[in-house]
Amino acid sequence: MRCPKCDGDMERVIFHEIEIDRCSLCRGLWFDMLEKEDLVAIEGSETIDIGNPSSGKRYNKLQHSKCPVCGVLMLPMIDKDQHHIHYESCPTCYGTFFDAGEFRDLKEFNVVERFIEMVRTLRQNF
Ligand SMILES: [Zn+2]
Ligand SMILES: [Zn+2]
Repeated sequence: MRCPKCDGDMERVIFHEIEIDRCSLCRGLWFDMLEKEDLVAIEGSETIDIGNPSSGKRYNKLQHSKCPVCGVLMLPMIDKDQHHIHYESCPTCYGTFFDAGEFRDLKEFNVVERFIEMVRTLRQNF
């Protein structure tokens, strides 16, 4: 598979039996449908995002990239909770592409959210 942003080689990374594709050059991450949701829920999954966030930001500006699986133009998306996270989503296969550092960013928010939720539950119990 070729990277939709820099045309680099995408390499297979397996985390908890979930296969992700990661670009060997820009370190962008490709998730098949719903893989992102599964991964966000697994502890430590941010370790797959090894890229440099500042180079990820550069690629973030590259829009109108084509889906590496089906070749159709992907749609620019904005994360519903963190509006500074822009990613691309394929309207055909529902895969998503995250630039380096974005998945880690997304994941950190989820950890914080869960912590707040935990504190809230604790408070209710006391
Ligand atoms: Zn790339
Ligand atoms: Zn696609």
